[in-house]
Amino acid sequence: MREKFKSLVAKAAEWHELTKEELIYVLQPEDHKERELLFKKADEVRQNYCGSDVHLRGIIEFSNICERNCLYCGLRGDNKRLNRYRIPEEEILEAAAGAYRLGYKTIVLQSGEDSWYTADRLCSIIRKIKEGLDVAITLCVGERTYEDYREFRNAGADRYLLKHETANGALYTRLHPGMSFRARISRLEWLKELGYQVGAGNMVGLPGQTIADLADDILFMKRMDVDMAGIGPFIPHGNTPLGKASGGTLDLTLRVLACARLLMPLVHLPATTAVGTLHPYGREKALQCGANVVMPNITPSRYRKDYEIYPNKICVNEEPERCRGCIQNRISSIGRTVASDYGHSLKLKVRHNY
Ligand code: SAH
Repeated sequence: MREKFKSLVAKAAEWHELTKEELIYVLQPEDHKERELLFKKADEVRQNYCGSDVHLRGIIEFSNICERNCLYCGLRGDNKRLNRYRIPEEEILEAAAGAYRLGYKTIVLQSGEDSWYTADRLCSIIRKIKEGLDVAITLCVGERTYEDYREFRNAGADRYLLKHETANGALYTRLHPGMSFRARISRLEWLKELGYQVGAGNMVGLPGQTIADLADDILFMKRMDVDMAGIGPFIPHGNTPLGKASGGTLDLTLRVLACARLLMPLVHLPATTAVGTLHPYGREKALQCGANVVMPNITPSRYRKDYEIYPNKICVNEEPERCRGCIQNRISSIGRTVASDYGHSLKLKVRHNY
């Protein structure tokens, strides 16, 4: 094993700081031994700062209608081969109540960018969930106005997930017609200002993305002091302009996750559904190199297959009850526990000392 690799990993595990050059080095273990060391140290940092608990967030994909045209995403407006849906409010509320009965303490409401959901319509859903159930709410509905974000927050939304997708501004521009990296970043700043617990995140293995870009993704999220970092592999979708691209690998995704944990010890790091799609034990592996969150799908079954961001998504035929049991078993199988609290930002705990 290279001395330099060993000492940089040790430095990152102790001080949670690396320069960009150092991070680029650590992101590229030379052999199996170096890779194992990186994963082991990330797992130790996760254990020390986050403990054994895995936080579950039940995700409801309530609309797959999208007005954007992101080059990588199966929901893009130009994909005419997708059966589009909006789940009626009643059914969303039932799904949330069902998840609550299964023990979920966080409900994530995710959709394409669908302006049919005015602030009023979304606030009504948020309020009803918060009135009826003792849960935290995460929103993941894309770019909206400051006023909308304020209204969602006043209605009871606790957290907001808006992935920055890539910290390489030129690549961001190529992938998102009509959108701007600046606008994305200012929204993350607004969300922080409004008191949300904020999640950003990037895809791994985008066409043209370099290791240096991935280092920038991690350093960007560290600088932004995000509460959550959603890092997952890019999986090409046949009905998009990037259908023939090669996509992210499990190994590179795990390396990025491990480095993210070393540099951001208190961040919530999900083992994504996308990583579970790449490998049958992808999520377990992610949980063993830094991750501490899983987001099981609680979308009513008949809509699931149409929320096709990427192909071959796992669990599209499972009922929420079965998903819950399956996840529980997977978590226990690696000696971990399912958290029973809301799973708020670990940074809040440190900030407010509770
Ligand atoms: N409209 C919302 C939700 C987008 S879908 C928003 O803008 O935040 C949620 C996430 O799916 C995206 O942030 C993106 O990172 C991921 N995603 C989209 N297409 C993907 C693909 N082909 N492979 C992997 N992840 C993808």
